[in-house]
Amino acid sequence: MKAITLLYHDVVPSWNFTASGFPGADASIYKLEFSEFQRHLNAIRSVIPRCSTASELGVHACSALLTFDDGGVSAHTHIADLLEALGWRGHFLVTTNWVGKSGFLNPSQIRDLRRRGHLIGSHSCSHPERMSHCTREELDREWKNSVSTLSQILGEPVSIASVPGGYYGRNIAEAAAEVGIRTLFTSEPETIVRVVNGCRVLGRYTIQQGVTAATAAAIAAGKVLPRYRQFVYWNLKKTAKLAGGTQWLRLRKWVLARQTFASHGRSVRGGWEP
Ligand SMILES: [Zn+2]
Repeated sequence: MKAITLLYHDVVPSWNFTASGFPGADASIYKLEFSEFQRHLNAIRSVIPRCSTASELGVHACSALLTFDDGGVSAHTHIADLLEALGWRGHFLVTTNWVGKSGFLNPSQIRDLRRRGHLIGSHSCSHPERMSHCTREELDREWKNSVSTLSQILGEPVSIASVPGGYYGRNIAEAAAEVGIRTLFTSEPETIVRVVNGCRVLGRYTIQQGVTAATAAAIAAGKVLPRYRQFVYWNLKKTAKLAGGTQWLRLRKWVLARQTFASHGRSVRGGWEP
C-alpha cells in the first residue's frame, strides 16, 4: 500500500505569521499566506479528483492525504473552510500542551473540526526537539498524555498522530502503537506505508514557503521528480543532523537569526523544527 501525504502547518492572513501556531522565524518558514494556500488547493484539485483520509487508506491503490501539524488556530479560522469547499477533509495534529493558548486551537474548536468530519490526532504534548532521542518513558508520556487529552476533549478514541521535529525512529512508532495509535505520520519523504506493531507509519512531503502550488500539485499527483528532489534534500539534511547532533540545532538557530536580523531586525527563539 502506498500513500502520498502532504505536510502543511499554519495558513495565515496577510503574512501575519504570529496569527497562528508557534512564534519565531524557524516556525514561520513553514507557514503559508492564505492566498498562496488557496493556490495550492486549486492546483492540487486540478490534478487529482479528491484527497483521502487515513480512514480510507487501502480503499484506493494510492491515496493523497493532507495533514496540518502543530494545532495552530488557523486550522479552524482558515484551513477547514477551504478544504470543505472542495469536499475534502484534513488531518489536524495537535500539540496538546498548547491547546487553548494564544494562536492555538481551543477545545471547542477541536470538537467543531471533528464534528465537521476532519480527523484529529496527536502531535505530542511538548513538541520535543529530537523525539527519536527521547527515552522510552518520555515517549510513553508524550503519546499517552496527548492522546488522553484529545480523547477527553472529543469524547472518542484518538488513533492518529504525527511526529514533531522531523526526528523519526522506530522507537517512536513502537511507543505510539502501545497507546493505540494506528496511523503515525512522519516527515520522511516517502510513499510506502510501513507497519510497526499494528501501527501504520506514513511518510510525508513537507510544504514550506517557497514550494510552489505547481510543485505541491505535482507531488500530490505522484510525479517522481519533485518527490525525488525532496528525498535527496531530506537525506542530505538528515546526514548533517546525525553528524551535528545538537550542534545542528544551534547552527540552524544561528542561520535563521541572521536571516531575521537582516529582514526584520528582530531575533528568534531557539533551535526548533515544527
Ligand atoms: Zn510540529
